[in-house]
Amino acid sequence: MCELKLQGAAWENYNWNTIRLKMVKCRLKVGFIILASGMLLALVTEILAKERYNITKQPIIVIDPGHGGHSSGVQGPTGVLEKTVTLALAQTLARRLETDYRIKISRTDDYDLALTGRTAIANRSQAALFISLHTGGSFLHQTNGVTVFYFDRKEKEAPFSEPTSDGLFTDNPARPHWKTIQKRHLIDSKILAFTLQHHFEAVRPDAKIRVQRAPLTVLMGANMPAVLIEVGYLSNPVEEKKLLNPEYLLNIAASIEKGINEFFSKKIWHP
Ligand SMILES: [Zn+2]
Repeated sequence: MCELKLQGAAWENYNWNTIRLKMVKCRLKVGFIILASGMLLALVTEILAKERYNITKQPIIVIDPGHGGHSSGVQGPTGVLEKTVTLALAQTLARRLETDYRIKISRTDDYDLALTGRTAIANRSQAALFISLHTGGSFLHQTNGVTVFYFDRKEKEAPFSEPTSDGLFTDNPARPHWKTIQKRHLIDSKILAFTLQHHFEAVRPDAKIRVQRAPLTVLMGANMPAVLIEVGYLSNPVEEKKLLNPEYLLNIAASIEKGINEFFSKKIWHP
């Protein structure tokens, strides 16, 4: 691998100190090559293992900006549209979360997307969390604050029988109907909602932060803890201004991030 080059002279005429020095250098060189090869092999093995067994342990979070396309959502007093605010917030939130989580945004531009299609994206991604973002709207212009919804179905509703549009869960009795799926995650969804409420209180001490249950279609078929957050009332002129301010969206995103981190620290996440 490395040869001792003794130019021109016979061995016996060579200075032995020079030869020893060359041998030490040679050993160091060989040692370095072995060490580097070992490190490279370990790195490749780790990457392959992560690819094969998906051991990155970074949960997938699907962020769902409400509305889009023909569905504009609430319109503020000066014409600001809910679909624009939710997309801007989703992008801000994604940037904050992508260091620690794998992030998917259900709608990446201004186009129509069905409610069940949004949930289907989360289910197909095997997401650990589904966060749908909206703003509130009220005829009472002074209504303000943040509301976190988790799913709750009225028990007296008719039994489920309709076919699904997400293609994941069918009426096959061997597989659960998609409309019953969120019921499995109700406790975790509720924990997530109250955890988020706590963090919103820090950023909006001026307003009410509510947690509510509702039979929301976009949450119904989610096979993971799921919440819908109304991050302010766009119908309120003061809140419309806030929702246009990137700094407010950043504060809201930071609160959601803290809530998510706390949620995962409370439970052992199973991929
Ligand atoms: Zn909405």
